[in-house]
Amino acid sequence: MKTQVAIIGGGPSGLLLSQLLYTQGIDSIVLERKTKDYVLGRIRAGVLEQGLVQMMEEAGCADRMKAEGFPHDGTEISYGDEIFRIDFAELTGTPVMVYGQTEVTRDLYEAREKSGGQIECNVEDVVIHDAKSDAPFVTFTQDGQERRIDCDYIAGCDGFHGVSRKTIPETVRKEYEKVYPFGWLGVLSETPPVNHELIYANSDRGFALCSMRNENLSRYYIQCPISDDPNNWSDEAFWEELKRRIPSDVAAKLVTGPLIEKSIAPLRSFVCEPMQYGRLFLCGDAAHIVPPTGAKGLNTAASDVYYLYHALTAFYKSGSSDGIEGYSAKALARVWKAERFSWWFSSLMHQYPDQTVFDHKMQIAELEFLRSNRAAQKAMAENYVGLPY
Ligand SMILES: Cc1cc2nc3c(=O)[nH]c(=O)nc-3n(C[C@H](O)[C@H](O)[C@H](O)COP(=O)(O)OP(=O)(O)OC[C@H]3O[C@@H](n4cnc5c(N)ncnc54)[C@H](O)[C@@H]3O)c2cc1C
Repeated sequence: MKTQVAIIGGGPSGLLLSQLLYTQGIDSIVLERKTKDYVLGRIRAGVLEQGLVQMMEEAGCADRMKAEGFPHDGTEISYGDEIFRIDFAELTGTPVMVYGQTEVTRDLYEAREKSGGQIECNVEDVVIHDAKSDAPFVTFTQDGQERRIDCDYIAGCDGFHGVSRKTIPETVRKEYEKVYPFGWLGVLSETPPVNHELIYANSDRGFALCSMRNENLSRYYIQCPISDDPNNWSDEAFWEELKRRIPSDVAAKLVTGPLIEKSIAPLRSFVCEPMQYGRLFLCGDAAHIVPPTGAKGLNTAASDVYYLYHALTAFYKSGSSDGIEGYSAKALARVWKAERFSWWFSSLMHQYPDQTVFDHKMQIAELEFLRSNRAAQKAMAENYVGLPY
C-alpha cells in the first residue's frame, strides 16, 4: 500500500488527524491494533477545550457534539464543607464542552467511514522502518499476512504503550516521568449528576471529582491506593466514601444507583523529548501523559494534532517545511504548560501518603487564596479552558 501519511493508532489523535488531512485532500491510512468496538468501548476523558471543539467543527464532525454536548461556563472547587466557583465565562470568555471521548471517537470513526477513509483494525507487529530516510515505510501483519505501507510521513498516535515512541533510539530520546502514589477509582452510574457543573473536592479522606456525561449519566471518581482493586468496592461503599469527601449539602443531594462501570486508573506525568525523529512525529499519549486532574490528556493530544495537521498541510499545499521541522519544539512548548497545570492541580487537591499537617494547611491556604483572588482564578481558568495554540 502507498499513502502520504501513515497513522499508527486509531484513537482520538489518529482519527482526528486523518479526518482533518482528508479535508485538505491529503491521503492517510490508519493502523489500529484493536477492533473498532474495543476502541469505542473505552470510557475516558469528558471535558473538551474550545480548540478541540473547533477542530471537530473543521473536520466536519461537530453536529452531534453541538446537539448533545453541554457547554460549561465554570467549575466548582470544594475543601471540607467550603465550596466556590471558578467562572470561566467571566474570567476568560470561553466555556468548555462536556462531551465524552467515546462520543468524539465514534463521530470521527463515522466521518472517516463515510468519506471512504482507510482504517485497518486488528493489525499486529507494527514496525516503523527508515524514519530518518526520505522513504519511510511501515510493516504489520493482519489476518496472518505480512503487509507494508510506503509513505511520506508517519504519525505515531498509538498511545503510551505503542511502538512509535520506542522507535526513537534511546540515545536520542529523553523521558521525564513522575508517578503519583495513588490512583483514581472511577465509576459510571445512570443517575442525574449531583451538580450542573463539575466539582473538584479536596478532603481529609482524599480527592473526589463529581463529573458527568449527560443529564442521566454521572461520572464520579475518588482517590484510592494504587494497589486497590475495584472489586473491593461495593456500590454502597463507593457512594458512602464519595459522600464523605464532598460538602455535606452536596452529599445530601446525591442520587445514588447501580454502578455500571468501575475501574482504577494510575496517575502519571510523563513527557518524551523530542516528539519527532526524521519523518516520524509523535502525537498525544504516545509522547506525553498527564494525571487527569484538570482534563488535559485528550486536549493536549488535540493540540499536537493541530500543529501536525497545519505543518503537513503547509508542506503539501505550499512546499513549506518550516512547520514540519519545528513541530516538536512547538508542540512541547504547550505540552509542558499542560503538564505544569495538571501537576499543580493534582498537588493541590490530593492527599499524599507522606503528607504532613503542614502540607495540608498549605493546600487549604492556597485554596482560600484561589477562592478570594481574581488574578489566581484567572490564571486557573485560562489553563483549564485551554491555553492558545
Ligand atoms: C483510564 C483512563 C482515563 C482517562 N481519563 C481522562 C479524563 O478524564 N480526562 C482527560 O483529559 N484524559 C483522560 N485520559 C487520557 C485521555 O483518554 C488520553 O489522553 C487520550 O485517549 C489520548 O488519545 P490518543 O489518541 O493520543 O491515545 P489513545 O486513546 O491511547 O489511542 C491510541 C490508540 O493506538 C492503538 N495502538 C496502540 N499500540 C498500537 C500499535 N502497536 N499498533 C497499532 N495501534 C496501536 C490503541 O489501541 C489506541 O486505540 C484517560 C486515560 C485513561 C487510560
